[in-house]
Amino acid sequence: MLRVTFLGTGGSLPTRNRNPSAVMVNREGELILFDCGEGTQQQMMRAKTGMMSLSSIFISHFHADHFLGIPGLIQTMSFMGRKEPLVIYGPKHMQEFTELFRALGYFNLKYEIRGVELKPGDVVEGDGYVIRALKTEHSVPSLGYALVENMRPGRFNRERAIELGVPPGPLFAKLHRGEPVEVEGKVVRPEEVVGEPRPGRTIIYTGDTRPCEAVLEASRNADLLIHDGSFADEMADWAEESMHSTAGEVATLAKEAGVRQLVLTHISSRYSDDVEPIINDSKKIFENVIVAEDLMELEIPFRQE
Ligand SMILES: [Zn+2]
Ligand SMILES: [Zn+2]
Repeated sequence: MLRVTFLGTGGSLPTRNRNPSAVMVNREGELILFDCGEGTQQQMMRAKTGMMSLSSIFISHFHADHFLGIPGLIQTMSFMGRKEPLVIYGPKHMQEFTELFRALGYFNLKYEIRGVELKPGDVVEGDGYVIRALKTEHSVPSLGYALVENMRPGRFNRERAIELGVPPGPLFAKLHRGEPVEVEGKVVRPEEVVGEPRPGRTIIYTGDTRPCEAVLEASRNADLLIHDGSFADEMADWAEESMHSTAGEVATLAKEAGVRQLVLTHISSRYSDDVEPIINDSKKIFENVIVAEDLMELEIPFRQE
């Protein structure tokens, strides 16, 4: 399972319908949070994502709309009896911010939190995937993230295996895992019945940024690109000045990268009643685009070969 839940999709300010930035990824039951704006823990409850299986938080940058939810969230998990350590990854000054979260208010944290500062190109190894930090372009030190699943075994050719005399059952699984098996004194090797390894899925989360090279490169053939789409193209000058992106700019990048699905988020409060301008500017260039809404969920399937 690879499920993405948009907990906060507003840009800079919360609005009636949009919380500040937070995106939850559930990968095979492990929860990974990208940014943690104010109110994220309540959004987790509303979306029923769960909270205690949260293994790590990846912060894109230290503007308040991307991290203010952390102090409340870590204290709630302590109240609820969390014992497992929590790692918070982020750009420059991540350790200092983690010390501030720990020191904020009277409470006794019952588990360990650890801040880990990442640089562009750094890789965090997960169980079955990696998360790579990407260089993004915002007004303060910032990072985007690419979640890349490990390669998975190739397709298993059942008919061929039976032809070679392998009985369906545990020996099939063994071959699929890449181990040779012996049937009636004859060895069957995995290459004979298992196809080429197939890529896993890739999700890119940019945080706040101008469209940029590292995101384009990381997004090539990605299954999902979640990009800063703060403004429609009418606000291009302001997008450039404030170091955000417009719908058209991101659609151009998504098209060039050949992503399967684009989601625009960090939607400016000026579009709180009507996101049509954002949708229109992006659809002109790239058809497969969604403007994120709070509590929206996406399942990311494997590609069909
Ligand atoms: Zn922001
Ligand atoms: Zn920002």
